Amino acid sequence: MSLPVTGSTARFPIHRVYCVGRNYAEHAKEMGCTGREAPFFFLKPADTVLEVAADGSTTVPYPTLTRDLQYEVELVVALGKGGSNVPADRAADLVYGYAVGLDLTRRDLQSELKKQGRPWCIAKGFEQSAPTGEVTSRELTGDIDSAEIHLRVNGVERQRSNLSKLIWSIPEIISHLSLAWELQPGDLIFTGTPEGVGPLHKGDTLCAGVGGLPEITLTIG
Ligand code: MN
Repeated sequence: MSLPVTGSTARFPIHRVYCVGRNYAEHAKEMGCTGREAPFFFLKPADTVLEVAADGSTTVPYPTLTRDLQYEVELVVALGKGGSNVPADRAADLVYGYAVGLDLTRRDLQSELKKQGRPWCIAKGFEQSAPTGEVTSRELTGDIDSAEIHLRVNGVERQRSNLSKLIWSIPEIISHLSLAWELQPGDLIFTGTPEGVGPLHKGDTLCAGVGGLPEITLTIG
């Protein structure tokens, strides 16, 4: 599994896909949670990453077992270096670049699993559940700490926020993850979604962006 790299013929090889839960206050509220909690994580299998074609021709099939597929636009951090026990003030050194991603979710199953205290795998880790655009190096993006993050469905804006509203910053997320896992080059980190998550239907077209990163456009089939 790999993703294209902006302005290069090189590919970014994918190792693991880490995801952060509830990392914007307004989204935590809409999920029924209040107050700052320690960051928590889940993983998607690396082969759930779907490369979103730059020409917008990508179609994601509506998955089985759900009647409430939902979108979540997220900044994806791509690691070029690994490490364990990385202090937050050195975490930026691990970052190769950034991409726009969707953490597609079978929300009805996730809600039921939460109630039952069961793992989220079926709700989060299904095929093509992580459509992602090309990876842009941080040399090209520069500082994106206050970039806008947004998503439209059929041309109607559904999510808009700013990376400055992340509860746990990118360096803090990397630092926390590195306490639990040995981070590796090729790891992707989905950093959480802002408020406004909602349902998708067959035929919907999504367009999502973060700052100056290449936008992603895809259709639910
Ligand atoms: Mn998410």
